[in-house]
Amino acid sequence: MSSAPTRYAVIGNPVAHSKSPWIHARFAQQTGQDLTYEAICAPVDDFAAQVAGFFAAGGGGLNVTVPFKLQAFELARAHLSPRAMAAGAVNTLWMADGRLHGCNTDGVGLIADLRRLGARLAGARVLLAGAGGAARGILLPLIEAGCARIDIANRTAARAEELAAAFPAGQATLRGSGYADLPASGGWDLVINATASSLDDQAPPLPAGAYAPGAMAYDLMYAARPTAFLRQAVADGASATADGLGMLVGQAAESFHIWRGVRPDPAPVLAALRQLLSS
Ligand code: NAP
Repeated sequence: MSSAPTRYAVIGNPVAHSKSPWIHARFAQQTGQDLTYEAICAPVDDFAAQVAGFFAAGGGGLNVTVPFKLQAFELARAHLSPRAMAAGAVNTLWMADGRLHGCNTDGVGLIADLRRLGARLAGARVLLAGAGGAARGILLPLIEAGCARIDIANRTAARAEELAAAFPAGQATLRGSGYADLPASGGWDLVINATASSLDDQAPPLPAGAYAPGAMAYDLMYAARPTAFLRQAVADGASATADGLGMLVGQAAESFHIWRGVRPDPAPVLAALRQLLSS
């Protein structure tokens, strides 16, 4: 007797635009895993009940997106991974031994994509624009990857200062400020846009000379065409540019691995998704 495939989903509101069902269907096909993956639009005031109902019905795992990542963190508070604790938000939920567990795979996805792109992280000087949820989620992985210096700049300077103070810097030097108070010397090896400014086709107000020779600009947002941040980066002398599509596929691959114990190859899925996005 064959059993029904295990059910997975991304839960958010809105969620219809999510690429996760497309990505996970390809991961399942590639690895021969028997599963389904759908999008669940949860009422904003009913997240906890929706999660409980999903797992009570035998669901295998959930990806969590806007606006529920903080609520997911609270729900899984007793069993959070170190990555989720550092990020203060959860994008991956699953049950183990009857208990809800949470992780945040965004940072792993970013680091995997930066490595794929050949970015040198050990000893790198990094400018991180933005101090919201995404910036918080990628900060610890950047520190762990051996970055030497991370300057965090944000429109609301206090949020950047709080973020810099909240993390154990390890070998790295961490500093938070507004854009106007960034060190004049500039010359970062990697500039990451973790702001939502690209949604308005705007670039954050970075100082002139931000890009050191050979530097890379990385926008967490992805689009069919280069974002305002990436266009500005080229004009300001960045040697390489990339958007966050690879990070999206990378974080999905990490969630898949947590749930299924199998690591999919993100490269062909990213290539196909890029083609889909630009067609
Ligand atoms: P968030 O928590 O709402 O934070 C938004 C950040 O953007 C804040 O630092 C905010 O500054 C800043 N900001 C907003 N509009 C701005 C503008 N016009 N100029 C300068 N700064 C501006 O959002 P988030 O969750 O961190 O997401 C940020 C971006 O990352 C989004 O574009 C999202 O799509 C992307 N993202 C991508 C992935 C991926 O897998 N590729 C994963 C996660 C997030 P204030 O503090 O001053 O308001």
